[in-house]
Amino acid sequence: MKLFDVYPLFPIEPVKAQGSWLWDKEGKKYLDLYGGHAVISIGHNHPHFVEALKSQLDKISFYSNSIKNELQEKLADHLGRLSGYPNHQLFLCNSGAEANENALKLASFVTGRKKVISFKKAFHGRTSGAVAATDNPKIVAPFNADHAITFLPFNDADTFTKAINNEVAAVIIEGIQGVGGIHVPTNEFLQLLSKKCKEVGALLILDEVQSGYGRTGKFFAHQFAGIEADLITIAKGMGNGFPVGGVLIHPSIQSWSGMLGTTFGGNYLACAASLAVLEVIEKENLMAKAQQLGEQLITQLKSMDPILDVRGQGLMIGFDLPDALASLRKELLFKHHIFTGEAKPNTVRLLPSLAISQSEIDLFLDALAQELKPVSVG
Ligand code: PMP
Repeated sequence: MKLFDVYPLFPIEPVKAQGSWLWDKEGKKYLDLYGGHAVISIGHNHPHFVEALKSQLDKISFYSNSIKNELQEKLADHLGRLSGYPNHQLFLCNSGAEANENALKLASFVTGRKKVISFKKAFHGRTSGAVAATDNPKIVAPFNADHAITFLPFNDADTFTKAINNEVAAVIIEGIQGVGGIHVPTNEFLQLLSKKCKEVGALLILDEVQSGYGRTGKFFAHQFAGIEADLITIAKGMGNGFPVGGVLIHPSIQSWSGMLGTTFGGNYLACAASLAVLEVIEKENLMAKAQQLGEQLITQLKSMDPILDVRGQGLMIGFDLPDALASLRKELLFKHHIFTGEAKPNTVRLLPSLAISQSEIDLFLDALAQELKPVSVG
């Protein structure tokens, strides 16, 4: 059987990883500034994380959701405390798209409405509900036939104010747009969204799948705006490579048996992985580190010619390149052995582990300076 060919692959097969580094079959060493789309939050193979997973291996076969699992409660407690949302409730699932799917479903259950506002360049995943809220003409949304989802311009207060009304079930927005190219909503825009949602009885869904888990310097990116979201979706960095997702749900939303569900949600390994990530973030002070290293890196990138525009917060950073440098990402990978990410057309995305060191960042900056030099001189 052949694999269904949907992923453009690099001809590199990692066989070992530690911290911010990966090694391929030939023993070549790569600096990882992408972490499989912001997945690696505390570093590859962190010893505390590995031990936590090993300690639960004998529970893989236990029934997931029909027996008591105290790790789920421990995780919810720790997450509530560290995220600043101690009173929200936690629903555990397996991925970011599934988290958004459940958040949209909850908004519809709670409000009895169907309409959703999303934003240009938004990405919320590839299940039918999540993809319907995603603005990308190449990713077709099969079940948005009744046009329940409207895409509005990002950061545009006037258009939003005109569009929101009491038919809207939810407004969904990323803490920082990731796949769309690292676009940061202004504090004023998020505050407006929060205020208007309350006025019309719509729920505000913050998709923090990519921007959450301390990456920006706060636990969730939207917390810079001082707002509280009704529903917050999480995944990626939550499990540091282990597949897990979740929805933080406002305390006023009542659950009923069977309202949501998923076979593997909240399994022992996923809980152990997620709990270990929180423990390391706290113990190693990774949020403060992400904020400080990210601020310096953004300042340095802004001073580098001919980089066009640098955006982001903490260690979620994007910058645009002139066309002449469109192959920079490949040069960084094949010449300097540094993994970065991209967004169309010419944006480089940096999503390193929050435990990256200054000297690792310096290696990247040196390589980048070498690649930029011929263009800025010419
Ligand atoms: N939301 C955002 C903001 C994302 O970046 C992604 C993945 N790139 C998703 C949702 C979907 O997550 P998953 O691939 O785990 O389904």
